[in-house]
Amino acid sequence: MIPIVPLGADGRPKSASRAGAFAAPGLLHLAALPPLTLYIHFPWCVRKCPYCDFNSHEHPGTSADLPEAAYLEALTHDLQAALPLVWGRRVHAVFIGGGTPSLLSVAGVDTLLGTVRALLPLEPDAEITLEANPGTLEAGKFAGFRQAGVTRLSIGVQSFDGQALVALGRIHDPNEALRAVEDAQRSFENVNLDLMYALPNQSLEAMRRDLQTALAFAPAHLSVYHLTIEPNTVFAKYPPRLPADDSAAAMQEEVEGLTRAAGYGQYEISAYAQPGRQSRHNLNYWNFGDYLGIGAGAHSKLSFPERIVRQARLRQPAAYLERAGQGRSLLAEESEVSVRDLPFEFMLNALRLVEGVPLARFAERTGLASAAIQAKLDEASSLGLLECDAQRIRPTERGRRFLNDLQVLFLPDE
Ligand code: SF4
Repeated sequence: MIPIVPLGADGRPKSASRAGAFAAPGLLHLAALPPLTLYIHFPWCVRKCPYCDFNSHEHPGTSADLPEAAYLEALTHDLQAALPLVWGRRVHAVFIGGGTPSLLSVAGVDTLLGTVRALLPLEPDAEITLEANPGTLEAGKFAGFRQAGVTRLSIGVQSFDGQALVALGRIHDPNEALRAVEDAQRSFENVNLDLMYALPNQSLEAMRRDLQTALAFAPAHLSVYHLTIEPNTVFAKYPPRLPADDSAAAMQEEVEGLTRAAGYGQYEISAYAQPGRQSRHNLNYWNFGDYLGIGAGAHSKLSFPERIVRQARLRQPAAYLERAGQGRSLLAEESEVSVRDLPFEFMLNALRLVEGVPLARFAERTGLASAAIQAKLDEASSLGLLECDAQRIRPTERGRRFLNDLQVLFLPDE
């Protein structure tokens, strides 16, 4: 990564001059900019789950005590400061994630989407997703979110099993999970359910029950994640007893079989959708599209004709709010992706897609010729991890199973 614009000593936004710096001659030549989506981060949860390494902070008290108005103002300031970097570009999808954004009031979501629409040109059919957690929802809240303009709801169910939910430290019980899905489907056609498998002491049978319960709702989309132990989490410090690797692999096969039989297409390692219901924001992300991330700890990836830039916002909500209140920059980091790192960054995303990507997308999104990765494509193919022809790059089944081994082949040479 090459830092290109040091933040001013006064910390004030210099967006217009930064946009000018990004337009200066660089090492890449992108013929066209990729699709753009907007990610909005909400950094608070009722309680921190022991496996969670997201930028989520436990909020003592009720949702009424959250600094909602101040946070919405900070998001407005954040978005306004970023506008010169995405000037004139249309936004294809909005994703409000967290944390637990369903802690926001309906009026708060309405205000937020009003601000977004006033400041950014949204595609008329833009998909607007909001993440919601069972246990944070008063009756009628989903209907209110729908009226405010949210078009897709993503519910963090994780499991319908009481013991599993306790082991995961979730605040909801199975009845609240079931009720949340029923409520969601009364107001939304497009609902995603997040599930996890390979949970502490989970059997194949228990995992199957969870998935069958989810499938009985026929949600438009399912995200089914393998529980992993991340550094700096409570589970990393006090590891729970998890199913062995071969049991977890059997569960993954079961997930793939049951979802396929129910008519879902797997389009990414953990994502299954009914036809036409893939998540637009996530699909853009995996295709190395652009996203502007606002909110505490949010990340952005933005392309310019001759460079690609990554940004991260301040992680701590208190610091984010304080700086926004002073009208100062909310950036914690900003750097240009080096030509050397681009192939790996592209592949890290694209190889998660079951159908891979057209080969031409590499040049389109990185500004580099595909010859830059030909030797690595050949190596991955010879190891049986990748299928590649003049049209398409696609991970094989083996490549999906050993995704890390496949991705690291594209790391820059020493
Ligand atoms: S609810 Fe989600 S974001 Fe919040 S702590 Fe739990 S896993 Fe993390």
